[in-house]
Amino acid sequence: MPERSDFLRDIVAADLATGKHETVVTRFPPEPNGYLHIGHAKSICLNFGIAQEFGGRCHLRFDDTNPVKEEQEYIDSIEEDVRWLGFDWGEHLYYASDYFEQLYEWAVHLIKAGKAYVDDLSADEIREHRGTLTEPGTESPWRNRTPEENLDLFERMRAGEFPDGSRVLRARIDMSAGNINFRDPVMYRILHSTHPRTADAWCIYPSYDFAHGQSDAIEGITHSICTLEFQDHRPLYDWFIENLPVPSTPRQYEFARLNLTHTVLSKRVLLKLVNEGHVRGWDDPRMPTLSGLRRRGFPAEGIRDLAAMVGVARADSVVEIEMLEHAVRDVLNRTALRRFGVIDPLKVVIENYPEDQVEHLEVPNNPEDESAGTRTVPFSRELWIERDDFMEEPPAKFFRLAPGREVRLRSAYFITCDRVVKDAAGTVVELRCTYDPATRGGSSPDGRKVKATLHWLSAEHAAPATVRLYDHLFTSPHPGSGGRDLFEDLDPDSETVCASAFVEPSLAEPVVGQTVQFERLGYFCADPDSAPGAPVFNRTVTLKDTWAKLQAAGRQGAP
Ligand code: ATP
Ligand code: MG
Repeated sequence: MPERSDFLRDIVAADLATGKHETVVTRFPPEPNGYLHIGHAKSICLNFGIAQEFGGRCHLRFDDTNPVKEEQEYIDSIEEDVRWLGFDWGEHLYYASDYFEQLYEWAVHLIKAGKAYVDDLSADEIREHRGTLTEPGTESPWRNRTPEENLDLFERMRAGEFPDGSRVLRARIDMSAGNINFRDPVMYRILHSTHPRTADAWCIYPSYDFAHGQSDAIEGITHSICTLEFQDHRPLYDWFIENLPVPSTPRQYEFARLNLTHTVLSKRVLLKLVNEGHVRGWDDPRMPTLSGLRRRGFPAEGIRDLAAMVGVARADSVVEIEMLEHAVRDVLNRTALRRFGVIDPLKVVIENYPEDQVEHLEVPNNPEDESAGTRTVPFSRELWIERDDFMEEPPAKFFRLAPGREVRLRSAYFITCDRVVKDAAGTVVELRCTYDPATRGGSSPDGRKVKATLHWLSAEHAAPATVRLYDHLFTSPHPGSGGRDLFEDLDPDSETVCASAFVEPSLAEPVVGQTVQFERLGYFCADPDSAPGAPVFNRTVTLKDTWAKLQAAGRQGAP
């Protein structure tokens, strides 16, 4: 039974209750012309989620009807991403191209019934004849060809006698219909292009409208769930189902697509970002693709949680990206191990600490989860702290380290800054400090309080690391709004590379793909670019929950 309720789950529940369907069958139908993005995740969670909750099944079907744009690389990435999100299609992996022969026979069926014809108009002429929302279309001069002539031409289209674009097969419905999708929609076009699966077996390919519903019918899909832009295609979907001897009668339902602020969810635009080198690839950690989010360190669970928080509705809305970050933070706060990392290091020398001494201090792995246990971190006379944890002339609200001030080093000791060492240019290069040996573990026996707790690393033991800090790819919350070119809204500083960071010795050879919390800094995920002794970390998110703040301030975050 469903974990939650929405209009689609209500429809499915009712159809099962009335016995209209014995079991629910859904499908996720990506076109393999790019990598999946987080919008697709909403559709995946919905289709697979409904199937799971109602004890039905969900198919993965590649909508591979346009060989010009489709590639095996995309097919492989889509399978990987759906699995990573936590869903399983079992044996139900299908391709629209598996149905090409059947679809061809059904096209012939419509031709014989006088409901489809071969049109010699060019694509431009067809567009001109289509009319507008207020004016009816005009009929093609080829509309009244006999079924015999149409059959002959269609066979010859298949046989490869004609060049690309010279002819199409169209449904013969109604050129003056109010719904433009009804004005003799194209069913087949000629494309002499090698297909990733059927190679050169075909040079005519079915349109989305002709392939999709019939594929659903072949697979026994009960609820064909798609996004709102297909609402006007539904009458056509039904028309094909009614006019063909299909084995089942699926119904199409539409829901609102996911939109996120500071983000563009369109494979066409994402492909352009890749091709024009604005990012390093489809899996660049700034990309809203599932592979990019994974590389960035976003857990699949956080993405599923976002889908649940957003829910399913029929009204378009834009979700604030902070809500996604909030969902991700929630999961990572529970699951990520705490580690020390220093991104912009400043040297601290503890003058009263013995020169050759090293202590291995016990530090909790996750204060939120005692079962995560503890680890030891080496402590010695020379340390790294974060440069911005020190100010020579601190303003009123700065409580961290300053000359003459005492702070706690997490799970270690209290230290006091005695002296500041600068280089010729006046830059602070070192702090001379003293520690209180009685505060081992980070608490003082005399109840003395300090106002700040800093993270630290032993300079001798720390491993050098590269840390990449990420900001939104687009500066504007609504990229390309107000008539601007989308690409003008790209943030040139969406990635900052910090090449002189340090991390705990245990992270010198990190588990690629694992996300940890660098205490006080945020969550960081070890990147595949890491080499032994040269780890690379991507900042997943900071610790600041701006979405919770927006909510508290009464701003609308969730739809
Ligand atoms: P794009 O608009 O990014 O190019 P698409 O819709 O062309 O994507 P498909 O491969 O056809 O990509 O999409 C597969 C499924 O994912 C479709 O059912 C589509 O409705 C759904 N989908 C695509 N984008 C979103 C989104 N932003 N939110 C929810 N579902 C989406
Ligand atoms: Mg599409």
